[in-house]
Amino acid sequence: MIVGIDLGTTNSLIAVFRDGRPQLIPNTLGDFSTPSAVAIDETGKLIVGLAARERAATDPARAAQAFKRWMGTERTVKLGDKAFRAEELSALVLQALKADAEAFLGEPVTEAVITVPAYFNEAQRRATRTAGELAGLKVERLLNEPTAAGLAYGLQDRPDNSTFLVFDLGGGTFDVSVLEYFDGVVEVRASAGDTRLGGEDFAHAIGKLFIERCGALSLADRERLQKDPALWWRAAEQAKRDLSERDTATMGLMLDGRRAELELTRADFETATADLLQRLRRPIERALQDAQLSPSALDEVVLVGGATRMPMVRQMITRLFQRLPLRTIDPDQAIAQGAAVQAGLKARDAALDEVVLTDVMPFSLGVITSQQVGQQRIGDRFSPIIERNTPVPVSRMERYCTVSDNQKVVELDIRQGESPLGSDNLHLGKLDIEVPPLPAGDAAIEVRFTYDANGLLEVDVRDVQGGRTASTLIRNTATEMSEAQIAEALLQLRALKRHPREEEENRYLVERAKRLYEDRLGEQRNAIQAWLSEFEQVLDAQDPRAIRQGRQRLREALDSIDGGFRF
Ligand code: AMP
Repeated sequence: MIVGIDLGTTNSLIAVFRDGRPQLIPNTLGDFSTPSAVAIDETGKLIVGLAARERAATDPARAAQAFKRWMGTERTVKLGDKAFRAEELSALVLQALKADAEAFLGEPVTEAVITVPAYFNEAQRRATRTAGELAGLKVERLLNEPTAAGLAYGLQDRPDNSTFLVFDLGGGTFDVSVLEYFDGVVEVRASAGDTRLGGEDFAHAIGKLFIERCGALSLADRERLQKDPALWWRAAEQAKRDLSERDTATMGLMLDGRRAELELTRADFETATADLLQRLRRPIERALQDAQLSPSALDEVVLVGGATRMPMVRQMITRLFQRLPLRTIDPDQAIAQGAAVQAGLKARDAALDEVVLTDVMPFSLGVITSQQVGQQRIGDRFSPIIERNTPVPVSRMERYCTVSDNQKVVELDIRQGESPLGSDNLHLGKLDIEVPPLPAGDAAIEVRFTYDANGLLEVDVRDVQGGRTASTLIRNTATEMSEAQIAEALLQLRALKRHPREEEENRYLVERAKRLYEDRLGEQRNAIQAWLSEFEQVLDAQDPRAIRQGRQRLREALDSIDGGFRF
């Protein structure tokens, strides 16, 4: 059976194509979304999903989240006494989804279509394939997320030359893509976005309003809340979601046993986030420009990503495009559904092809320079040659001059990153070139950077007066695992101890109770402590019926003080 998987930064989903339509598969808690979170508990056992997200709140050193952001890099994170790469953590999430699908379908799941952002480069794509392999899945295909959204909305059933704009606003990232369908092929004609903008920024704005305006807060409270957003983000998130449904909402927080509240209107929220809304416009304009399309030429605008539930986002899109966007599919589920459509096509041997014309370089590439300002020389300036998010392949040239009299050599220090300080950015390589000895500023060099879709950076430098040249090739700005590393990772993942699947809900409730205990004070704390002890006793007795009843009691008790919302 081939499944479709949306391996997301915050949440992941798995779906299958059955009875002529995509169907989402629930996890052991009955949810379609499984948080992309992994933790190792104090007994060394693995926790994945919602329980791991709860654990991240009480014990961040044992939990990892948002690792999709460092796919294809060498970065590792230590959980307990083991270090994990992003591929391995992603593999653990994929394994959990695979197990859910096998339990649901009653048959082994061995093949998958996995979605990736359109801007993922080759190394990030290979890392995603490796994650699948580590999870015991043959990755039939990697599908671009916007293409998956297009398939969920039936782009493949439209006439040739149909174009869709996919607007994807998730928790932490924003992507806009223009798709075109022609003769069984979907083409990503342009993609643009902002990897540092998402629904979380909108919740943050509510938190800031609360700190500013809530009358019940002392100066010390405000300082504490400003320093530690973990104290209020859930309450802000809840208020944000309430404001998607209603005109007013109350953000409420327990602080040292006191309740502080602020009543918010949708208008307050919209005023406080006007700048964020504005930032959503530029990538839309860029994607349309790159695809050489006007808003009216598009056949459909599709909304995906949970944060498109905010009415102001939908209104902005409606105004901008002068039409209602498509949003009949749950915006959290469209990508997984599209992956399942592709899996279904594949199973019938009728797979849809896909080409990506516009791949983008996700980081700025440049060199370190010095500047002469009056008498003073300021070193360690980063001078970008290829700016972040430039479509690739790309070739750009910059000209630089010497800074000392009779300077004989220019040493190029090639870096990748976004800091104005050169040394803060990742060092990629060095290239020296000799120049004729002339007064400072008279000898010039031309530096050309050429970057291709395989992550190869070619650096050519020419001394303008003398005509000498030098060049170097820098392979892959990201790294991938070797065969030996993959084999070793497989062993390490197999050796991890796991809780039995049927215990997952118990684990989640215990982690949630611990998180609430940390949150609360006084009587509520005592109550949580008592519920937790009672539940642990029930678990120890190992009577399945009693465990079911105890679980129900604990769930209701926790819901009574926590609203029962899961995020
Ligand atoms: P995704 O990464 O697509 O799952 O999107 C998650 C983002 O959607 C988070 O920032 C959520 O806060 C946001 N979100 C989910 N539901 C709502 C809602 N009803 N109103 C506003 N934002 C929401």
